Amino acid sequence: MFDLTGRTALITGSSRGLGFSIAEGLAQAGASLILNGSNPERLTTAATSLRTKGHTVHEAPFDVTDEAAVQAAFDRLDTQGIAVDILFNNAGIQLRRPLVDLNAADWRHVIETNLTSAFLVGREAARRMITRGRGGKIINTGSLTSAVARATTGPYTAAKGGIKMLTQAMTAEWAEHNIQVNAIGPGYMLTEMTQPLADDPKFDGWVKARTPSRRWGTPADLIGTAVYLSSSASDYVNGQIIYVDGGMLAVL
Ligand code: NDP
Repeated sequence: MFDLTGRTALITGSSRGLGFSIAEGLAQAGASLILNGSNPERLTTAATSLRTKGHTVHEAPFDVTDEAAVQAAFDRLDTQGIAVDILFNNAGIQLRRPLVDLNAADWRHVIETNLTSAFLVGREAARRMITRGRGGKIINTGSLTSAVARATTGPYTAAKGGIKMLTQAMTAEWAEHNIQVNAIGPGYMLTEMTQPLADDPKFDGWVKARTPSRRWGTPADLIGTAVYLSSSASDYVNGQIIYVDGGMLAVL
């Protein structure tokens, strides 16, 4: 039920961080991988490290915010005869700044990287899944901020709240094609994105005190949910967001 053998998964933003860990987890469950990032050198390093472990890995460097680049990347995959069965929209960025100090260009950049990207890549994947008629899995990446807000992360919070509803909008249109669209909402996980927070004793103490599990999450903590949402085990699960947060959202 959880076996992904014979399926191909595209994970955006998988050159490092949570995306890399999710990619490795899906490969361990049997999937072939298409890794993505905007920096081709970083991507090749990540792909090589997974190939040395025996996994099948293709590289698709493109900017997830660039509509033409996204379309060209899918056209290249078509030419190579590679079909995406599982799409993990994971690429994202954070920018911490009070709303009153934020300019519109920075607002747009955060919204485009975290939200519009899921539409652009999701649309290309779904068009092909619908044409092939074999269904598929799309997993979008939310956050605790899909449900609650925190000061200085305004555009990120708006984007991740949008991810929750985009997941439902995609479900409304694509579930009848046997495409299950769901989202994952990581809590505070230790990656390059959050390293500055973990290095700050005050913030680190707040996370541990505020999280019922009393610890930061690790990228490996996401793998079980990622495999579940990518596999036949979730074939009647549609439009949900699953928080993997050590219990943070469950308590005040
Ligand atoms: P990292 O900063 O560690 O990694 C981000 C990845 O996204 C990199 O592979 C980066 O590759 C890629 N990326 C960024 N911008 C683009 C772009 N325009 N086009 C293609 N790839 C891009 O982030 P995390 O692993 O921490 O976060 C991954 C996801 O999880 C994000 O959506 C984030 O919002 C979400 N999340 C993270 C949490 C955490 O605690 N870490 C908590 C909740 C949600 P490159 O540099 O080559 O572009």
